Amino acid sequence: MEQRIKTYLCIMKKDIQIALIAHDGKKAEMVAFVQKHKAFLGNTDIFATGTTGLHIENAGFQVHKFLSGPKGGDAQIAAKVADGTVEAVIFFRDPLDKHPHEPDVQMLMRLCDVHNIPLATNPASADLIISGISKLLA
Ligand code: PGA
Repeated sequence: MEQRIKTYLCIMKKDIQIALIAHDGKKAEMVAFVQKHKAFLGNTDIFATGTTGLHIENAGFQVHKFLSGPKGGDAQIAAKVADGTVEAVIFFRDPLDKHPHEPDVQMLMRLCDVHNIPLATNPASADLIISGISKLLA
């Protein structure tokens, strides 16, 4: 309930902040996802890890880019989760590949759970987050 109220207030102020991250094997899915939700995401502040952010920019969005994930970008987004300035995290992880920054990924997901921040790790769940926030507008 607390999260819903917070999200609602952010909607009223038009400053919903959403973090978008995709491992390399999932970047094409992330681009397809942002294009699918262009109307919604165009009214949010998008934060992204470096390379994911470049792909999203190339798809026509304004993006606040952090460092690349392996260089600390996931940790930077985790810090935003910890300080309460992100309403949702959408992280398309590639479960079929290894990642040198797996500890940072685990930290980010753990902090989402600590702070009760919606976290989607695949397009199906990300669709539900977008539709859930959109329903708050109705
Ligand atoms: P990237 O980082 O967007 O810089 O590729 C994503 C990640 O692997 O965490």
